[in-house]
Amino acid sequence: MVSQQNAQTNAADSALAAASCQQENAGEEVCPIKVLVINSGSSSLKYQLVDMATETVITKGICERVGADDSFHKHGIDADERVISVYLPNHYEAVKAVLEVLTDAQIGDIESLEEIAAIGHRVVHGGEYFSASALITDEVLQLIQRCSPLAPLHNPAALAGIRACRELMPDKLQVAAFDTAFHQTMPAKAYMYPLPYELFVRHRIRRYGFHGTSHRYIAERAAALLQKPLIDLKLITCHLGNGCSVAAIDHGFSVDTSMGFTPLEGLMMGTRCGSIDPAIVTYLVEELDMSAQEVSDLMNKQSGLLGISGLSNDLRDIRAATEAGNERAALAYEMYSHSVKKYIGSYVFALGGVDAVVLTAGVGENCDRMRRMIFQGLESLGIFVDQKLNSERGFERVISEERSQVKIIVIPTNEELMIARDTAYIYAQVSAEVC
Ligand code: ADP
Repeated sequence: MVSQQNAQTNAADSALAAASCQQENAGEEVCPIKVLVINSGSSSLKYQLVDMATETVITKGICERVGADDSFHKHGIDADERVISVYLPNHYEAVKAVLEVLTDAQIGDIESLEEIAAIGHRVVHGGEYFSASALITDEVLQLIQRCSPLAPLHNPAALAGIRACRELMPDKLQVAAFDTAFHQTMPAKAYMYPLPYELFVRHRIRRYGFHGTSHRYIAERAAALLQKPLIDLKLITCHLGNGCSVAAIDHGFSVDTSMGFTPLEGLMMGTRCGSIDPAIVTYLVEELDMSAQEVSDLMNKQSGLLGISGLSNDLRDIRAATEAGNERAALAYEMYSHSVKKYIGSYVFALGGVDAVVLTAGVGENCDRMRRMIFQGLESLGIFVDQKLNSERGFERVISEERSQVKIIVIPTNEELMIARDTAYIYAQVSAEVC
């Protein structure tokens, strides 16, 4: 045990030699460079080119259905978006297509790849190796590979994207930003499962947490909006999209979060069940003769809003059906808000109070009705939502009344900007070391 921990600590130390520290990094000025942010999924590759001088997106796009015959590439922002039909058999070809379009003489946004200083990659699982973003080295690649069994759909795709960039732009600095990193500050009482201790020792079965880049971003923005240092605040951050998670953030550090060993635990989601009685799994296997894969598909792809409503995983559809009188849709809606409410409540106690609850992602940013339901009936706890502010859209704002003891805040998330900031920070550190 001790030697395994030491090995991990040593590996992490050297891997993080030039890593950013989210606490140090917060609020600092970044290098005025252009950063390419890449998010490689199992069959897609999303990207943004970010100008760090202004922190604005120069251009963005997505390669979809990578590996399929009908792959295509969407490039550009809003009215400038164009769809390019191109065969993309793998992530290498997808990255190549992205670099070609970025530097295209007619529609490109930069004259040459020289203008890109560094590349930041989203990596879902960093296990216990990474508590911050890291400069990508051969050793870091090995550690990401070692975490692949924990995120079998995501980490191999990220590795493919990183390797493609290394081949096509060998001289560029690359950085990995991990969804799990922010939650590495959780204490053992929050990350351990009450299972036999050997499962943790031998197999690292523990809570890791996900959406860390988003929780970190909205926590920082909430502090800015409240005009208070993050270090003085107790926050509960809620990422409510297709995947949903809640985090308890104490003085800037994640101390608990709802997703666990995998992104299946916690809140009810679009197609994921979230936390259920674990004995249901053995019941399905023993009594309904289901295989492990069938149970996994059932819990990941056929449950949540979709499973209860039988209609859709999209809350907009559930809302419309509810308003049309569909009872199962109404039940799905109520279960979803109840699930968020319960987690927020438990984190208020875990934190010993809370200054603000922050909401983000598709549902958190856009659905006034869901926000209203989540905070309904909490007036005796000093929580008052301002319904006018709640019904507005699309920008960072406090939606609680002035008298509310707990502030409710809506922040549109921006994981790409966070990754770009970490990348620029590490680029500046490495450049300073070289100089
Ligand atoms: P992802 O987790 O895939 O990044 P998003 O953050 O884009 O997802 O959230 C997608 C979800 O947000 C959709 O499935 C939908 O349920 C919800 N959503 C988006 N806009 C609205 C809206 N106006 N009202 C209710 N739900 C919305």
